[in-house]
Amino acid sequence: MKISTKLIHSAGEKFDRTGAISTPIYLSATYAHEKLGESRGFDYSRLENPTRMALENTMAALEGGVKSYAFSSGMAATACLFETLKSGDHIISSHDIYGGTRRFFDSILTKRNIAVSYVDTSDLEAIKSAVRHNTKIIFIETPSNPMMIVSDVAKIAPIAKKSGAKLVVDNTFLTPYFMRPLELGADVVMHSATKYLGGHNDCMGGVLTFKCAGFADEIGEIYKSAGGCLSAFDSWLILRGIKTLGIRMDKISLNAMKIAGWLKSCKFITKVNYVGLGEHPQYEVSKAQASGFGGMISFEVADEKMVPKILENVKIIYFAESLGGVESLITYPLVQTHAAVPEEDLNHLGINKKLMRLSVGIEDADDLIADLAQAMEG
Ligand SMILES: *Cc1c(COP(=O)(O)O)cnc(C)c1O
Repeated sequence: MKISTKLIHSAGEKFDRTGAISTPIYLSATYAHEKLGESRGFDYSRLENPTRMALENTMAALEGGVKSYAFSSGMAATACLFETLKSGDHIISSHDIYGGTRRFFDSILTKRNIAVSYVDTSDLEAIKSAVRHNTKIIFIETPSNPMMIVSDVAKIAPIAKKSGAKLVVDNTFLTPYFMRPLELGADVVMHSATKYLGGHNDCMGGVLTFKCAGFADEIGEIYKSAGGCLSAFDSWLILRGIKTLGIRMDKISLNAMKIAGWLKSCKFITKVNYVGLGEHPQYEVSKAQASGFGGMISFEVADEKMVPKILENVKIIYFAESLGGVESLITYPLVQTHAAVPEEDLNHLGINKKLMRLSVGIEDADDLIADLAQAMEG
């Protein structure tokens, strides 16, 4: 079955006898037992809920994994994953990464005496030399946020395997519609379902999907104990979002390509980071491992005075954090999404006073371009 069909039909068996096409929203916190020691497969909704299970089955099918767990946010998913580590362990992370993930690593993992090495994960030699005897997880985000650096999943997988570490890929930006990291050799895929999977800026969620049952079971124990589970209603919203993921991603990518081209020719813009541009340093890697380029663009304005002007003058595009919805959003990483990153790392990465980030939505591309143009001129 092709991915477009899977998006519609992966929720698994129908749960009720009415033949309902839409998965019912099961608001039950608990479930009645027939006999002592015999449940109907559901005991308590922190552990399993039929609506959430439909979402988890869908995600496992889409990513090609054996099992998924759905969490109340992307960060809840990431936090649960790192509960598998113990004091003295070490991880490697992409140096350019979602600001909240960076904050979690710096403020929570380090307190638990877990060391983090930030590495340019587009550089295989840099990863190899960062590996230690106690490296347990290599965590990559590709394309990265906000610099759009692409890491080669299939080439990193053997490095992780050789060092006995699990390779985890944050696939939020591309979604399984464009890239399936487990097929490329990753062990775990992480999603902020708040973004493209939900797709409408109306709910939050996170998903972990596993290639092997062993690691999935280990997470399952933590999942049921730590309680970061996704509600039935939000599970349903994300399931509903996933049905249109393909057409949204196609339209978003077309729009993003057009806007990136326009930004390149715009006199107020000095630099454009978009993985679909031929001059992107990892363009060939992107083309080889993903079937689309997605909707995230970052760019530098010629003069930092342009930043407030653009943010305050856009009329169609919203000045807001987050990404991945049908509405286009623009943000200023330095003071918003990446405020938690230390200054020297920001400078090194190029997250500077002139850098802006655009999450392209499904509006008409020409209207979005006109909106940016009037905001810059205005
Ligand atoms: C938003 C985001 C997260 C965190 O997810 P939440 O749902 O906001 O907790 C993680 N990674 C990436 C790439 C994100 O964009």
